[in-house]
Amino acid sequence: MSDAPERDSEREPEPAFETLAIRTQVPTSPEREHAVPLYLTSSFVFESAEQARALFADEIPGNIYSRYSNPNVDELVEKLCRLEGAEDGIATASGMAAVFVSLAALLASGDHVLACRSLFGSTIQILNRLFPRWGISSTYADTGAPETWPSLIQPNTKLIFVETPSNPGLDMIDLEWLGRLARERGIALVVDNCFATPYLQRPVRYGADLVVHSATKFLDGQGRTLGGAIVGRKDLVAECRFFARHTGPAMSAFNAWVLSKSLETLAVRMDRHCDNALRLARHFEGHAELESVRYPFLESHPQHALARRQMTQGGGIVVLVLKGGLERARRFLDSVKLMSHSPNLGDTRSIVTHPTSTTHSKLTEEERRRVGIVPGLIRISVGLERVDDIIADVEQALVASGT
Ligand SMILES: *Cc1c(COP(=O)(O)O)cnc(C)c1O
Repeated sequence: MSDAPERDSEREPEPAFETLAIRTQVPTSPEREHAVPLYLTSSFVFESAEQARALFADEIPGNIYSRYSNPNVDELVEKLCRLEGAEDGIATASGMAAVFVSLAALLASGDHVLACRSLFGSTIQILNRLFPRWGISSTYADTGAPETWPSLIQPNTKLIFVETPSNPGLDMIDLEWLGRLARERGIALVVDNCFATPYLQRPVRYGADLVVHSATKFLDGQGRTLGGAIVGRKDLVAECRFFARHTGPAMSAFNAWVLSKSLETLAVRMDRHCDNALRLARHFEGHAELESVRYPFLESHPQHALARRQMTQGGGIVVLVLKGGLERARRFLDSVKLMSHSPNLGDTRSIVTHPTSTTHSKLTEEERRRVGIVPGLIRISVGLERVDDIIADVEQALVASGT
């Protein structure tokens, strides 16, 4: 077993996390299905002219059209809200749709975003390449220097966007501190909780106004579907819902049905991901062929104490920095046998990724260096295979790639 701290009772939703994830369902139809059926329908029929009018006027609840709502999507959103302890939410076609909607729905021309420097590559592209076209500016702040954040807030700063732990650097941000700062300044705090999932970390509890997810990753956990979600404060989710309803990044009923089933096993999967990841990180820490090993629950992680306070376990991602830089990293990638070489993460299958040449190749070398992405850095999404087999594959690839 992992050495995760006991979940404190304040953290635990009622009923327990696992039970909510399994027992939150849309009501069954007269057929009394045990598994929730797939509502593969683009629209819904009205019973009367009056009902149609009232549904469109938001006077009564009910489905109209699957771009607005669908029973499978509603079930997924309801589950995720309960697991995150959030008031309301929406689902989107991908994680990036969720990130984009959370930003675009809340911002207007002239507004400013304060973001942490280590962010998912496409989030950086939205902030750097797309938003300036619409008059929205951004500033990046370093996670390692929280004392600099208050001075980076401008009179027009409307939103703070952070990722913790970050992809791929596994940098952490103190959400309790940041939640307080955002509240004092009246700024919306949006947290990308993709790496932790609500099983390990609940940003709403620390004052996040919105939490965004790439459901593609650990929430699905089996590398099958794209998906995203935004959950949080009711009034802000209403803005996101309006934006999404009229711009159309809706999640498909099929993907929602898959993802809702996936959430039923999130807790058991994350326990094993975290256990395997911690064992792998401990095994390779101090290895002669490595410059460093990064994992939030290793004592050597610069924000280890914060990780222990904020997360119940360290997550499923381990970062190895190989000796020998770029060429060594390339030989390592070509030497792995069991693990997949792919850009995804959060799958049952262990996956190796080289951010310098793939996910973060669009950044300049200086930008990569500032977020700790050196040429020898390999991100391992530790899967659910027997951990000894994963360790053996890393070991043999280190040997095979050496000189
Ligand atoms: C993958 C990822 C995203 C984007 O999600 P997609 O489902 O691929 O669109 C956003 N944030 C983080 C931290 C991610 O890892």
